[in-house]
Amino acid sequence: MDCIFCDIIEGKSSAEVIYEDDKIISFLDIRPVNFGHALVIPKKHYKDFVSVPEGELSCLIRGTKILSKAIMDSLMPDGFNIVVNNGSAAGQSVFHFHFHIIPRFFNDDFKFRPNLKNYESDSMKEFADKIRASITI
Ligand code: 5GP
Ligand code: ZN
Repeated sequence: MDCIFCDIIEGKSSAEVIYEDDKIISFLDIRPVNFGHALVIPKKHYKDFVSVPEGELSCLIRGTKILSKAIMDSLMPDGFNIVVNNGSAAGQSVFHFHFHIIPRFFNDDFKFRPNLKNYESDSMKEFADKIRASITI
């Protein structure tokens, strides 16, 4: 299986690594939205958010929090986004799960402009019923 992030973990491809422990690694995105844009990934290959086991997910969240704070303290942006793209329809291009930490500035011109919808009559409940019926814990 070809995976650029596995190659980085295995040292076959280089990256600007900013943090590493036994479960996760973080490095700078090669095409940043803003400079300092970082990725946080598990060392094991999982394709998306729902595939990552809970133990590794908590390590990733812990690392994402540590690195978000380091980015805020060192680069002093006005804010930051934590983003996960799941599936190509959602913009995922590397199918090895990762959190993006994107430093944000008031004037950075990076805009998310959704065309917000309105639910018709009972359809909100119908959507909620479908989701509730599919919850597995
Ligand atoms: P996605 O689109 O899957 O949410 O995000 C994948 C990210 O990985 C992109 O922002 C892209 O710039 C970054 N990326 C892809 N290939 C490489 C690489 O070889 N090195 C680094 N550092 N980042 C990469
Ligand atoms: Zn991988």
